[in-house]
Amino acid sequence: MKLKRFCPKCGSEVEKLTEGLCIDCYKKTTQAIDIPAKITVLVCECGKAAEKNQWIKYENITQLINSIILENIKMPKKTKINIDFELPKEFGGAMIPVSVVLKNMPDEIKTIEFILKNTTCPSCSRIHGGYYEAVIQIRAKESLKEIYDFVKKELDSGSKKDKLSFIVKEDIIKNGKDLYVGSFKAAKKAAKKAESIYKLSRKTSYADFGMKDGKKLTRATILLKE
Ligand SMILES: [Zn+2]
Ligand SMILES: [Zn+2]
Repeated sequence: MKLKRFCPKCGSEVEKLTEGLCIDCYKKTTQAIDIPAKITVLVCECGKAAEKNQWIKYENITQLINSIILENIKMPKKTKINIDFELPKEFGGAMIPVSVVLKNMPDEIKTIEFILKNTTCPSCSRIHGGYYEAVIQIRAKESLKEIYDFVKKELDSGSKKDKLSFIVKEDIIKNGKDLYVGSFKAAKKAAKKAESIYKLSRKTSYADFGMKDGKKLTRATILLKE
């Protein structure tokens, strides 16, 4: 004995429901699915990607592509789809054809041109451009190397969170070293720690060095003295 089923939308009697609907009604809901023909994503060698101007760190390129595709497809909540693509060996500017198949309608395949474009993200372009926000001046005799090693280690460990937490350039001077640091925040944090550990005096001064997007750019000089 076969159970009779009714489509809750149009009331017609059917043998089998697809996602709870008769096939005609189901087809209508799939018409509400909007799959973009092309998606472009910028990627930087530091492991960040941007779609719509927001740079985010990603762990896995396959996951990244999947989540961006899902964000870009407009569809009714319950729709089940299969996303299928093959990663090219090198993806600088590569176009990856991605096929999207509705699970209940395997014949309806849509293709997205997925483009990964190699770009330098804003923080990397700052680094390449020698950008720095602070100079740490270490002035010490016996513990110079120790303080220097400590500050460098602090900055290194902060670089996972803050890409500019690193030494852009360093100068050796009499009784000390000048460290040019990409991020002021990171420089201040490292200097503060060094101050308390090595019982140093710390003095910070600021100077303007230009404007960007209507904002004043300030550089800090942090003097750490034994
Ligand atoms: Zn129906
Ligand atoms: Zn980058």
